[in-house]
Amino acid sequence: MSEHNINISGALQTSGFADEAEFHALVGAADLSSPDKVARFEQWKSGDGSKAGLLALNRQPTSGGEHNIISVSGGKDSTALLLLAIERGAENMQAVFADTGHEHQETYEYVQYLSDTVFPIRTIRADFSAQIATKRANLPARWAAEGISQDKIDRALALLHPTGNPFLDLCLWKGRFPSTRARFCSEELKRNPIIAQVQKPLLAAGDDIISWQGVRADESPSRALLPENECKFIDNDTQAELWNFRPILKWTVEDVFAMHRKHGVKPNPLYSKGMTRVGCMPCIHARKDELLMIGQRFPEEVARVAEWERLVADCSKRDMSTFFAADKTPGRHKTDFTLPMPGIYQVIEWAKTSRGGTNFDMFRIQDVGPLCSSIYGLCE
Ligand code: SF4
Repeated sequence: MSEHNINISGALQTSGFADEAEFHALVGAADLSSPDKVARFEQWKSGDGSKAGLLALNRQPTSGGEHNIISVSGGKDSTALLLLAIERGAENMQAVFADTGHEHQETYEYVQYLSDTVFPIRTIRADFSAQIATKRANLPARWAAEGISQDKIDRALALLHPTGNPFLDLCLWKGRFPSTRARFCSEELKRNPIIAQVQKPLLAAGDDIISWQGVRADESPSRALLPENECKFIDNDTQAELWNFRPILKWTVEDVFAMHRKHGVKPNPLYSKGMTRVGCMPCIHARKDELLMIGQRFPEEVARVAEWERLVADCSKRDMSTFFAADKTPGRHKTDFTLPMPGIYQVIEWAKTSRGGTNFDMFRIQDVGPLCSSIYGLCE
């Protein structure tokens, strides 16, 4: 035990400390001269226990102010988070929506509604024009060296231009769609633009950032392990700090909707149309029942994805690119490995089937009727 009564666990030693001696030295140097500093020290102990977080405890306040950045997705959790930040009077508040270009139109309208009636929301977008330009410049020589025909090269060059849609441009640049194994979408479309366009300028100016995140422990086992507070980054030049803050970590879904009701804010209408979560339409993680719902309720989104599949395929060496990987429809591919990758329409057809993926399940199909099927009971 150290003088500050902390157990040294393996986890702590892997959190950036060189060894036990360094851990003891830094813990011993922790500034506990005020109740506020003691509280932050306790938060660090129950949080990530990282060296960066511990170093931050002793740092003098930076020259700039403290900015509260609220990430808004148009979903229920981030809306409750925004309302909580307003309730708490968070200083220097910015609400930020990272537009993937792959959201449902009702989500765009909902974010606008929040921006108009609750708090102004800044929309940011990733831009892959430079990456696509580099790919265009290198493509002819590279593909020719690999024996790709001139016809394919010409076809790709004719189509390979930025569209202005972040999700589609990301796929054109990568030559493929993201997948559950190659999850580059949230990093490229949400995390990186927020870092580059919002966080970095503030940190470079010496301003600390509290990054509010609307995640809840009961969403997944990995989220349940997240700390409520953690120091994620310290700018080498300005010493400004970036903290992640997850104040609704222990909230239930009911708490989240209660927050909407308390402030008279309507939830995203997609929930009352059967969607259990709001985000990309569809998300690469979409479950079978969600895909069934999307196929029945939002055929225009399926048609858009089918069009994207054609475009990305025409810009790819393999002439093929599908939104979902082959293992999305395990029933079909389990028995026939020679089948082509399933396009979005095939995946939607598969979503209508019962377990096993071969027989149509009429009860499941009829279930998604005109009645409200929101699992949150939003339409009383
Ligand atoms: S919502 Fe899904 S598809 Fe969209 S960025 Fe996040 S993980 Fe990727």
